[in-house]
Amino acid sequence: MPNKSIIINYDHCNFKQCIDGVCRAKSACEKKVLKQEAPFEPPYVNTGLCLGCNKCIAECPSKAIEKTR
Ligand code: SF4
Ligand code: SF4
Repeated sequence: MPNKSIIINYDHCNFKQCIDGVCRAKSACEKKVLKQEAPFEPPYVNTGLCLGCNKCIAECPSKAIEKTR
């Protein structure tokens, strides 16, 4: 099991802040850990390949991405 990952705090996620409803955190992740079925759909954690690089955390304007450890 990978030991680094992130979770999305849906209480904070507000994709109206993201241009065209595209999750900025998802776009920042080179490992495609985050997925979104379509713009204005909520993003979700798709894989456990997270590097722990924090790029998604830095990119989210709503501070909705949190580390699990
Ligand atoms: S970047 Fe943050 S606020 Fe925007 S859709 Fe992704 S998780 Fe939600
Ligand atoms: S911490 Fe890095 S690898 Fe992990 S989900 Fe965020 S951008 Fe992707």
